[in-house]
Amino acid sequence: MSDTAQQTGTAQQIPNQRTIGAPVVSLAMPRLRRETGRLKDRPVDGAKKVLLAAPRGYCAGVDRAVVAVEKALDRYGAPVYVRKQIVHNVHVVKTLEKMGAIFVDEVDEVPEGANVVFSAHGVSPAVVGAAEERGLHAIDATCPLVTKVHREAVRFAKQDMEILLIGHTGHEEVEGTSGEAPDHITIVNSPDDVDTLEVRDPERLVWLSQTTLSVDETMETVRRLRERFPKLQDPPSDDICYATQNRQVAIKKIAPQADLVIVVGSSNSSNSVRLKEVALEYGAKAAFRVDFASEVRQEWLEGVRTVGVTSGASVPEVLVQELLDDLADAGYSDVEATVTAEEDLVFSLPKELRQDANGKRDERALGGRVR
Ligand code: SF4
Repeated sequence: MSDTAQQTGTAQQIPNQRTIGAPVVSLAMPRLRRETGRLKDRPVDGAKKVLLAAPRGYCAGVDRAVVAVEKALDRYGAPVYVRKQIVHNVHVVKTLEKMGAIFVDEVDEVPEGANVVFSAHGVSPAVVGAAEERGLHAIDATCPLVTKVHREAVRFAKQDMEILLIGHTGHEEVEGTSGEAPDHITIVNSPDDVDTLEVRDPERLVWLSQTTLSVDETMETVRRLRERFPKLQDPPSDDICYATQNRQVAIKKIAPQADLVIVVGSSNSSNSVRLKEVALEYGAKAAFRVDFASEVRQEWLEGVRTVGVTSGASVPEVLVQELLDDLADAGYSDVEATVTAEEDLVFSLPKELRQDANGKRDERALGGRVR
């Protein structure tokens, strides 16, 4: 039995978290199982069970961004300003606010000369320029996998290609990537956008994508694009990141067996919202997304034998453990991990934070840490 299983009394079949592909989300301290008694153990036909997806929760880019804010607070003292939510998770944002972070929408809300962190979703060159003009000390916590897409956009724009960026209009990542080459980028929101798309030159087209989309829907969009524009070029590598893909693969395996899937994640978290959609597409009888365990309703569990549980890439593991505790109250104490991949990726911290005030390499320079 793993340490976690012993602590919670709910997870006898969960292997140690470091072995199931979530090295940066293990609980740092022993945690007592929390009984709220909010959910009741109502009888169903057959045995109740939880299928727990792995990988789930924090990805390397989110962990790096959150550590960057914590380290900036340590290093420079509060307040540290953060442009937009550092990652799309209510709990994380509120926790960092309590530590002294101030979240703003734009850099013109930051006092001149202050410290500002750019979020994991990335920023356009215009935002970087505006921060420079205000004399801000900027720490760029853009996920390196988002930066990779920015570089691809710049490179294709230099070749005078028209870039069809598959993604959601208004999402911060899409705004940041579009800002790299606004005259060369057209956003494609969904497969249905393809029919009405107007392009400059069908011979000089390439597609890129937001990192947190549904893999299946993106491939359908590409298929329809290629039907209309046979000369469409592919990007050099996948833009949908490893974390998004891995979490979708895990929930696809669980969904056909699940009477109910619960996704922990915030409503503005693209990859969390996609997990709920993917669960339904792959056979879950019902699926809900919640920020916190306290949002789970008793009626969702009526007649439910098997509950699938997963969490988005910006969700700390403690929120999943709270959900498991509540489900155990309702009789779902048999928890089985469904492991579809191992993850051990960590990213270096932003360069401004790799050394401490004395110039020594910081022990958390690699970004990842055990929670
Ligand atoms: S979801 Fe993917 S792209 Fe986004 S922060 Fe995590 S690793 Fe980076």
